[in-house]
Amino acid sequence: MSARILVVDDLDTNVRLLEAKLTLEYYDVLTCGDGMTALAIAAEHQPDLILLDVMMPGMDGFETCRRLKADASTRHIPVVLVTALDGREDRLKGLEAGADDFVTKPLDDVILFARVKSLTRLKQVMDELREREESGRRLGVQGEGSGRLRGAGGRVMIVDDDMRQAERMAAELAAEHRPTIESDPEAALLAAAGPIDLIIVNVAAHGFDGLRVIAKAQSGAAGRRAPILAVIDPGDRPRMVKALELGAHDILPRPVDPQELAARARTQIRRKRYSDFLREKLDSSLEMAVTDPLTGLHNRRYMTGQLQALVGRASHGGASVAVLVLDIDHFKSVNDGFGHDAGDEVLREFAVRLATNVRAIDLPCRMGGEEFVVVMPGASLEDAHRVAERIRRDVASAPFRVMGGAEHLTVTISIGVAATAHGDTPDGLLKRADEGVYQAKAAGRNTVIARAA
Ligand code: GH3
Ligand code: MG
Ligand code: MG
Repeated sequence: MSARILVVDDLDTNVRLLEAKLTLEYYDVLTCGDGMTALAIAAEHQPDLILLDVMMPGMDGFETCRRLKADASTRHIPVVLVTALDGREDRLKGLEAGADDFVTKPLDDVILFARVKSLTRLKQVMDELREREESGRRLGVQGEGSGRLRGAGGRVMIVDDDMRQAERMAAELAAEHRPTIESDPEAALLAAAGPIDLIIVNVAAHGFDGLRVIAKAQSGAAGRRAPILAVIDPGDRPRMVKALELGAHDILPRPVDPQELAARARTQIRRKRYSDFLREKLDSSLEMAVTDPLTGLHNRRYMTGQLQALVGRASHGGASVAVLVLDIDHFKSVNDGFGHDAGDEVLREFAVRLATNVRAIDLPCRMGGEEFVVVMPGASLEDAHRVAERIRRDVASAPFRVMGGAEHLTVTISIGVAATAHGDTPDGLLKRADEGVYQAKAAGRNTVIARAA
C-alpha cells in the first residue's frame, strides 16, 4: 500500500511541485495552504507523513506542528518541516515543537525521498505496535509500554577514516547515545553483526569504499540488521543514489550538521528499537501458540498436530507410535486442601518428573487441567508400558514439596497406554489410552493399564 502524504505550503507553486514529484513516486498526496486546514485534514484523513512549510502567514509551521503533536489523534503522524537552507534557528525551533525531521529548500529529490521513505517506514512499525498494544489491552494483557522505546541510548558505530569528522560526530551523538568509531572497514563489518542500533558510514572516505561497506553490512542476516546512515557530499548525486539503492536508510550530507545528525540518528534508532520489539513479541507469541504457559510442556494444539503426522506415517508403513494418557489422582483434594497455587506447584513439579522420564524424541504435553499426554514415536506398546511404569513409580515414590517446602504431598497418577495398530486414527489411539486411564482409576488408582488394539 502506498503511503499517504499531506503537503502544507502557502505557496501554491510549491504545493504543485511537491505534489507532482511525490505522485510520480506513487505516493497518495493531499494538499492544503494553511495550518488550520492542515490540522483538520490530518485528523480526518490520518496521513502517513506531513511535509510542513515553516513560513506561512497566520499559523506558522512551528505552531501547526505543536498542535499536531499535542493532539492524541495526530500525535503519531511524523512531521517533516521544510526550512530555509540557512535555517539553523528554524531547525532547533522545529525540533522543540516536536517535528520529527526537516528538509531544506531548495528540495533535493534524492534526499527528500530518502527522508520520506525512512519516516513512513518508522510509522509503519509504530502503527503495528500501537495496534498490538490496543488489541492486547482489549484482551486484558498488560502492554509493555511503547514509552520505553525511545530513540535515545543507541549503540552507534561510526565507520570513517576522517578522524576529525568522526570525532565531531561522536561528540555530538554522545549527548544521547553511545557512539564508537571504527576506521577499519573489515573490523566494522565484524562488529556490525553484533548488537548495534545504527551504523554511520562515510561514503566519502579516502581509505576504503564506503558503498562496499554498506552493501556488505546489508547482506547480513535480515531482521537484526542495523540501519545505515550514509555520509555523502551533497554534490555527489550518483553515489547518493547508489547508497540508497544498496540499502542505506538515509543520507547525511557533508559537512554534517549536528542537529541534522541528531534527528536522523533518533529516527533510525527508534525504528530499529520498535521493530526489534515487535519481532521479540512475535517470537514469544509463536512460542506461546505451542507451549503450555504453566508447565512449559507442549500444549494440546501442538500435540494434536504432531500426533496427526506420526499416526499418518505409521499407517503408511512407518514406525509405530505409542501414547500415554496420564491423570493425577484426586487432584481436586490438593486444591481443596492446600489452595490453587499449591495445585499449580504440583502440576509444575509433575511436568518436570514427566519430562525427565521420557526420551528426547518423546513429546510430553499438557492437555489441560491435570491431564497429560506423552507421544512416543517409534515405541511399541511394551516399550511405552515400561516407561509409564517408571513414571508412575517416580511420581509416587517421593513426595512433592509445595508452599516453599512447608508441605510434602504424596501424589499418584493413573496412566493409560496405547500403541498404533492397523487403521488407527489419532483420536482412536487417544481414546484407547483414555479407556486405560478409566480402568486404572476403577482399579484403585496409582496404576498403569496398557490397552492392546
Ligand atoms: P480423579 O482421581 O478421579 O482424577 O480425581 P481428580 O480430583 O483428580 O479429578 P477431577 O477431574 O474431579 O478434578 C480435577 C481438578 O483439577 C479440578 C480442577 O479444579 C483442577 N484443575 C484443573 N486445572 C487446574 C490448574 O491449572 N491448576 C490447578 N491448581 N487446578 C486445576
Ligand atoms: Mg485426576
Ligand atoms: Mg480429571
